[in-house]
Amino acid sequence: MDNKNQNSGGDKKNNKKPPKSGWIICLVAALVLVIFFSYMSKQMDAAATQEVTYTEFLRMIENNRIKEVKLDYDKGKITIYPSKINDQQSYGITYYTGMVNDSELIERLNKAGITVGSPYVDKSTTIIDILLAYVLPFVIIYVIMFFLFRMLTKSGGGMMGGVGKSNAKVYVEKETGVTFKDVAGQEEAKESIKELVDFLHNPGKYTQIGAKLPKGALLVGPPGTGKTLLAKAVAGEAKVPFFSLAGSDFVEMFVGVGASRVRDLFKQAQSQAPCIVFIDEIDAIGKSRDSHYGNDEREQTLNQLLSEMDGFDTSKGVVILAATNRPEVLDKALLRPGRFDRQIVVDRPDLKGRIEILKVHAKNVLMHDSVDLDAIALTTSGAVGSDLANIINEAAILAVKEGRAVVTQNDLLESVDMVIAGKEKKDRILKLREKKIVAYHEVGHALLTTLEKNAEPVQKITIIPRTKGSLGHVLQAPEEEKFMSTKEDLLAQIVIYLGGRAAEELIFHSITDGAANDIQQATALARSMITQRGMSDRFGLIALESIENRYLDGRPVLNCADATAAEIDHEVMEMLKKGYERAYQLLSENREVMDRIAEFLIEKETITGKEFMEIYHEIKGQSIEQPPALEKDKGEE
Ligand code: ADP
Repeated sequence: MDNKNQNSGGDKKNNKKPPKSGWIICLVAALVLVIFFSYMSKQMDAAATQEVTYTEFLRMIENNRIKEVKLDYDKGKITIYPSKINDQQSYGITYYTGMVNDSELIERLNKAGITVGSPYVDKSTTIIDILLAYVLPFVIIYVIMFFLFRMLTKSGGGMMGGVGKSNAKVYVEKETGVTFKDVAGQEEAKESIKELVDFLHNPGKYTQIGAKLPKGALLVGPPGTGKTLLAKAVAGEAKVPFFSLAGSDFVEMFVGVGASRVRDLFKQAQSQAPCIVFIDEIDAIGKSRDSHYGNDEREQTLNQLLSEMDGFDTSKGVVILAATNRPEVLDKALLRPGRFDRQIVVDRPDLKGRIEILKVHAKNVLMHDSVDLDAIALTTSGAVGSDLANIINEAAILAVKEGRAVVTQNDLLESVDMVIAGKEKKDRILKLREKKIVAYHEVGHALLTTLEKNAEPVQKITIIPRTKGSLGHVLQAPEEEKFMSTKEDLLAQIVIYLGGRAAEELIFHSITDGAANDIQQATALARSMITQRGMSDRFGLIALESIENRYLDGRPVLNCADATAAEIDHEVMEMLKKGYERAYQLLSENREVMDRIAEFLIEKETITGKEFMEIYHEIKGQSIEQPPALEKDKGEE
């Protein structure tokens, strides 16, 4: 185990440090310079010297034109220096000629009084000579090859050596540092995955009895719900290395690269077993192969993945975990027993889950004693783990910005607004008329929320523009989380969505484009009631739409005849019309409350649920049944 950790640690180190291609560039540049300079110096030598024939050389001796010669027997070269006195024309030029077998040469030179020289050559060989001549070139070539190889294998792509090398990042247990305690609110998912940990701890226990363990598990759920975190926690709990790779890392432009990366990844994983291999966004390679637009590279990669999963031996303790938010597009072959035969749903956390996630992230942040994470969890229905982590972090940043040492409840509430609606846009100043319209619009929503008994109470209304584009919004706080809704609840929700527009028309007798988003939401809800939830008298229980990409945008797809589609549109219009009429009527009956609350809002820009209900009760009298929001608000303040 130690050994493996060291190996993988080494790998990680290599992964961290990019190849020093700079070294190679320097080395090559130095070599080019050396070659260039030696070539240039030869050229310059050649320009200053001239070759003569041996006969010419002898004639020069006879004519007494030479002052000195140098005889180089090793090179077989005679270098000739003309005399300044007897040959002024040639003085300054150095001549040379080849050595011939002339036994009288020395005598001739002596007779002519020419100085004879010869370079001294030490013929004895030292160790340094041997090293320089024989070892150094090999060392240089080795160094160059080493760096080139490293650069090509580490670059991970490219057309040469990088092909097929996987970019798998190897983590060791002490570096993942994640345990099941860090993954909050996913109890069912943790439960199903726990036996994998036990298997990694003692594979023998299972193999002894003849049990085959699942080769892989597929974590399915919306983005940010903690799939990666859960996979890391399995590695952390089992204290085994964690290989992580995204599906898109496999696929390159070149056909065959993905397949060889898959091979390489499995080879690495098996050499480090027991370990966890985590493939994020597996749909990038695992898409169904029967789609019309084939992609050779993706299909080859998928085929390789399928055959590797068949081929490897689970008893060694390699577990493949994969994550996706589009399980419906995956190839059936991937999901059959023996491959990803387990699907673990990691869904959006419920209220309890959100409270736990907030607690996990609040652990490392200094919080004021009055902070009530339950209240924050209540206002964030639909948020996933990463949103909640973000809310805590933003709140901490807010506290620092305001020079506080601890995070308060207000920081957290402001941070919820920020994550949901964006930052406050303080420079966007609304004109008074616009401000009035926005205020009435938002009060319209909020008042209807309170009036419609079945709807959720309001937590806060604000008309401060936000960076995500809204000019104001109502923060609704569900008193308790609902897992199902009645038809009346949903109809009331449509009335609330349309309350903004109804208020505008009632007060200003004109309408604005500020209700576009409300109308979209109301339409989507009405449509789903008719086509999916069987809540229309006209169509009854027929399923007219199905949902695609359930964990992403949840886009509905119609499965009915065109004529029926037109009828559905009619039915939706009817439902929305009725909802709007009800909104208009309710608001006109409560005009006074609306005016008072809008007035307050225009002046203060923000009104809490408590202040809202105080005004409401003041005008309507205490006889009105007190909605649960007031209780909650009281508890929070
Ligand atoms: P996914 O892989 O599902 O898209 P991640 O696992 O990458 O999501 O989650 C992103 C971050 O969100 C995590 O690093 C963690 O800080 C936070 N997070 C998500 N889910 C949870 C959870 N259940 N408990 C604690 N933190 C969570």
